[in-house]
Amino acid sequence: MSLRDTTTSMAPVNTSDLIERLDRILPQTQCGQCGYVGCRPYAKAMANGEAGPDRCPPGGDAGARALATVLGVTPVPYDRSRGEHKPYQVALIIEDDCIGCTKCIQACPVDAIIGGPKFMHTVLDDPCTGCELCVPACPVDCIIMVPAP
Ligand code: SF4
Ligand code: SF4
Ligand code: SF4
Repeated sequence: MSLRDTTTSMAPVNTSDLIERLDRILPQTQCGQCGYVGCRPYAKAMANGEAGPDRCPPGGDAGARALATVLGVTPVPYDRSRGEHKPYQVALIIEDDCIGCTKCIQACPVDAIIGGPKFMHTVLDDPCTGCELCVPACPVDCIIMVPAP
């Protein structure tokens, strides 16, 4: 079933306050699993009645419930077809294998990777949201996900 089909009873409400409230609930992983380019665009879509509260795997069922409460719609579990709800994790670059291609930097939505062309790259744990977008971008498979410190 498409997610849009689950939202037909939701009354469209479009206020910046509602967007803010929804955005604050979202994990800010910026992973795109919801089908939007980031958390805020998803919050806007919900506020506009274009998306339901079940599209965010990083938020899990608790997040979906919280979003539904703010939207005033019936809570539903998050849609498992969009991805797995995982414990908070961060990316780690196996630095000895890094060829300095910069592809991971281009894939990272939050500028959590530092390094220059042909130099070893490193992930900064603090800004890394664990979105995993850098992992498939690496041509030598030297980025792994590890539990957050
Ligand atoms: S799936 Fe959730 S965490 Fe990922 S971008 Fe969408 S709202 Fe943000
Ligand atoms: S370093 Fe990788 S996992 Fe971390 S935020 Fe950037 S793209 Fe996402
Ligand atoms: S994509 Fe992989 S090889 Fe390229 S800079 Fe990033 S970690 Fe290094």
